[in-house]
Amino acid sequence: MNKEPTYVIVGASLAGATAAQTLREHGFAGRIVLIGDETELPYERPPLSKGYLLGTDERAKIYVHEEFWYAEHAVELLLGRRVTLLDRVAHQVELDTGERIGYTKLLLATGASPRRLRLPGADLEGVHYLRRVEDSDRLRDTIRAGGRIVVAGGGWIGLETAAAARESGCDVTVIDPQPAPLVAALGSEMGAFFARLHRRHGVDQRLSHGVSEIRGTGTVSGVRIDDGTEFAADAVIVGIGAMPNIELADQAGLSCDNGIVVDEMLCTQDPDVYAVGDVANSYRPFYGGHLRTEHWANALHGAPVAAQAMLGQRVAYDKLPYFFTDQYDVGMEFSGWIGPGGYDRLVTRGEVAGQAFHAFWLADDRVVAGMQVNLWDDGIAPVEELIRSRQPVDPDRLADATVPLTAHVMV
Ligand SMILES: Cc1cc2nc3c(=O)[nH]c(=O)nc-3n(C[C@H](O)[C@H](O)[C@H](O)COP(=O)(O)OP(=O)(O)OC[C@H]3O[C@@H](n4cnc5c(N)ncnc54)[C@H](O)[C@@H]3O)c2cc1C
Repeated sequence: MNKEPTYVIVGASLAGATAAQTLREHGFAGRIVLIGDETELPYERPPLSKGYLLGTDERAKIYVHEEFWYAEHAVELLLGRRVTLLDRVAHQVELDTGERIGYTKLLLATGASPRRLRLPGADLEGVHYLRRVEDSDRLRDTIRAGGRIVVAGGGWIGLETAAAARESGCDVTVIDPQPAPLVAALGSEMGAFFARLHRRHGVDQRLSHGVSEIRGTGTVSGVRIDDGTEFAADAVIVGIGAMPNIELADQAGLSCDNGIVVDEMLCTQDPDVYAVGDVANSYRPFYGGHLRTEHWANALHGAPVAAQAMLGQRVAYDKLPYFFTDQYDVGMEFSGWIGPGGYDRLVTRGEVAGQAFHAFWLADDRVVAGMQVNLWDDGIAPVEELIRSRQPVDPDRLADATVPLTAHVMV
């Protein structure tokens, strides 16, 4: 009998490839099998709606590791293979080829998939979703051709692709049922900041309206919204959120609730099965509750914790949520979590109109989230320190850009 421990990772993307790297860095000498249903080497997705979409970032730049790295670190990379079954009793996963692979420990890093539009015309040619590199390739060809683009959804994907399409010379209309874009993520005030940014760059925004129909015969020719207005369109980009890929875990009887439920070591209720990245709803000690985020940094920082936990180390994943975006001449970093309790005050510091400022979301005078726009000298670290301190702040002093951010944390 083969006694060599085998660690299997399902999902060959940022979280999966980073976990494989950490296993080797921490001296794991057993077998590592990294299985992904995409045919591309594991890659990072943020460029797909930014530089890669615009054609300014080369394909080679998106990969987590170069191809030789996997062989050099004895990571068996099975690409273009889908895991169809998790058999926890036999400690095996089954591939779409019918082959079964036994595991000692298993990491589910299956990510998320775009939420689909379900309305008339949603299957027409010219309706785009953006998750995979081939989606970005197709969309790049579309926006390079110019024309009229309608974006359904004013979230991160919607706004970033709207910016790329404008920069490529398209006419762009964004439609969102909320009164401002990004309301769910940032609230109305900072949603309004992004609305102004896009207006300045010529994006037509139809807010407080939903798409009711995509029109066309075979191919998209227009979009109708819920008040009956119609827009001509050569293509539609749908960015209405993503759903965690929980099917394997769910069928295997693992606890799933807005993702695969895991503890602070990213372990499910089965001590041999872990989950990480977009698919994991993990317990965060700082918040005293579970949180699922679909952020690049969550995959990057969660994966090493999962890998170390699989090796039996006592670790906890307790990073604050962190997100970044680039749109036109705005680069932004956000940290924290506004949460179901929301916030009761927004404080800005610096030049909002000049696009160089901080914003802080306060609840009971404590900073629960913060972002920096085009202020890269200190980055997001002082904001995170403020959140972690949980100390009350004086909002007027916080707004005063002459007072260093570090002065608000008493040691
Ligand atoms: C276009 C785009 C732009 C983004 N921009 C930003 C940004 O600016 N900032 C930011 O913070 N975040 C951004 N994100 C989010 C970030 O990319 C994700 O949080 C990150 O990719 C999550 O990594 P992951 O490894 O958990 O999952 P994923 O990247 O989703 O990878 C999961 C992989 O598992 C595969 N898989 C699923 N099920 C199976 C199965 N049964 N068998 C085999 N393989 C399977 C999937 O096909 C996929 O390849 C962006 C995402 C997208 C799509």
